[in-house]
Order: sequence, then structure tokens, then C-alpha cells
Amino acid sequence: MTKVLYAKPIIEESKLKLAQKTANLKKRGFTPKMCVILVGNNPASLLYIKNKKAFCEEVGAEFELIHLDEDTTEQTFIEQIEKVNTDKSITGLFVQLPVSKHLKHIDISNLVNPEKDVDGFHANSSLDLYRNTEKSFIPCTPKGILNLLNHYEISIPGKNIVIIGRSYIVGKPLSLLLSNRDATVTLCHSKTINLKEITKNADIIISAVGIPKYLDSNYLSKAGNQILIDVGINKDVNNKTCGDIDFENVKNHVAAITPVPGGIGPLTVNSLIENLILATEKISSKKG
Ligand code: NDP
Repeated sequence: MTKVLYAKPIIEESKLKLAQKTANLKKRGFTPKMCVILVGNNPASLLYIKNKKAFCEEVGAEFELIHLDEDTTEQTFIEQIEKVNTDKSITGLFVQLPVSKHLKHIDISNLVNPEKDVDGFHANSSLDLYRNTEKSFIPCTPKGILNLLNHYEISIPGKNIVIIGRSYIVGKPLSLLLSNRDATVTLCHSKTINLKEITKNADIIISAVGIPKYLDSNYLSKAGNQILIDVGINKDVNNKTCGDIDFENVKNHVAAITPVPGGIGPLTVNSLIENLILATEKISSKKG
């Protein structure tokens, strides 16, 4: 029987832990506070921010939105980031992407104070991943995937894990994290030859491509013992949210699979708030 790996039980458990940690920090005079900088009015961004705000409030953390105009100048944008970087009441900073075209050339990740880098994309955080020290912040989607594997007791060492998609937000950091945990990782992309032959040999397949329902049973081993993790968030022909994996087509050919929605998406938000609490704990321990 195929197991569906839902995020819900993980998040329920996590919210209790995060609320407890927040309460402890507050008792010591440190309130976790997330600041999100948004440029423009992208509807998807507004929805993501609403979810982040709700999550913060549920665990007792504070939330502030700095909402800038679509045509805000480069100088104002950078000044806002610098202001938040030094604002002692804010412990986590997140710049919601995408930003307007005229701001896209800015190396936003490295402008963020590394102590408040809840996104995990500052060069310091990347270097930690590369060196396998992981002292800083782990990028949110890969961290959510680790949480999922841990919760469902899916062991990593020695596993043959195929990741499809090599973006710097998902595939690349994930390949390092899993390799650091002793998996044998194959990182595939659009130029990979014979992808179907590679995925057939995997114990775990993780897809982060962005093509609705492309991964079907033709990519799978006949043994039916593989685990599929679907990072994709796409729209199908009926404009319904779907993943990269054709869930209905593969569901009886695998041991376990994450759903979309209800899988890696909400776990990514959970990771962001975990990083916020971690950032506040680090700041509090420095100040004693
Ligand atoms: P990118 O567009 O940055 O990267 C897509 C990757 O897929 C690239 O590495 C690309 O290869 C590869 N690719 C494209 N076509 C193929 C193909 N036919 N075969 C094999 N590989 C292919 O996407 P993101 O990483 O930003 O996002 C990927 C998906 O994950 C999207 O649906 C996005 O919405 C979703 N997402 C979900 C999150 C969540 O919280 N669940 C968080 C982030 C993203 P190449 O490098 O050669 O171009």
C-alpha cells in the first residue's frame, strides 16, 4: 500500500515546539520578529506573505511587512534592507522574490545581515553547507525535505538519491545536504541524458523542475519500492495546483509519495519560521 507523506502532522508537531521555544525566548526578553520586504503586488507573493504572517502569529512571533512600490528606487530598496539589518527588534529578514526587473541585478542574499538570514542564501550559509559544518541557516525547501525524511523515518545514509533540478534554491543545496548525510546523490537537469534510466535506479527521487505532472511511471523501477518527493508547484490544464509528478499515474507504483498541495510547500514555510526562532536563539545566546 502506497504511503502518502503529508506535511500536516509534521507541522502540527513543529508549531507546538516553536511556540514553546518562542515563549522561552520571550521570558528571557528576546522576541522573535520576522520582517518581510516586498516590492510590488505580485498576487502569489501576497499569498505567501499572508501564510508566513499567520504562521508567525500562531507560534507567538512578531511579523512586519515593509511593502515598497513596484518602481521603488534601488537606493530606497537597499536602504530598507540596511535599516532592518541593524534594527535590534528584528531577528529575521526575508526579501520576497521576485522583485521588480530593475532590482534583479542586486545581490540581495548577500545584502542581508547573515545573523538574520532566515532564507539561508547568504554566502556564509552556502559556505557552511559546502564545508559540511552547517553552523548557519539551511535553505528552507531543502530543510523541509530533511524534516519530512526524518519524520517518516526514511533513512538517508547509503541511499541512492536522484534529484531532478539544480536551482540554487532547491536542487543544489539539497544535493550537498544529502551528500553530507552520506547519501549517494545524482543531480540531474535539463541536459541530463537518459534521465529515465537514472531515476529507475534510485531509492528516492526528488523532483524540483516546474513542469506539471511530467514524471510518470515510465521513470520508475518496476519493483514499486521507490520514494517520491515532489517539490514542484505548478498549475495543471484546469488551473489546479499540481506537482511535477503525475500522482494518479504513479501512486500504485511506489512505496511512498508526497502530495501537492499539502507536502513540501507548507514544510518550506515551516522551515522559515524554524530559522527565525534559530536566529533569535543565536542572537540571545550572544547577548547572554
Ligand atoms: P528553476 O526553474 O530555477 O529550476 C528548474 C530546474 O529543472 C533546472 O535545474 C532545470 O535544468 C531543470 N529542468 C527543466 N526542465 C527539465 C527537464 N525536462 N528534465 C530535467 N530537468 C529539467 O526552478 P525552481 O528550482 O525555482 O523550482 C522548481 C519547481 O519547484 C517549481 O515548480 C517551483 O514552483 C517549485 N518550488 C517549490 C517550492 C516549495 O516550497 N515546494 C520552493 C521552490 C520552488 P537546467 O538547470 O539545465 O535549466
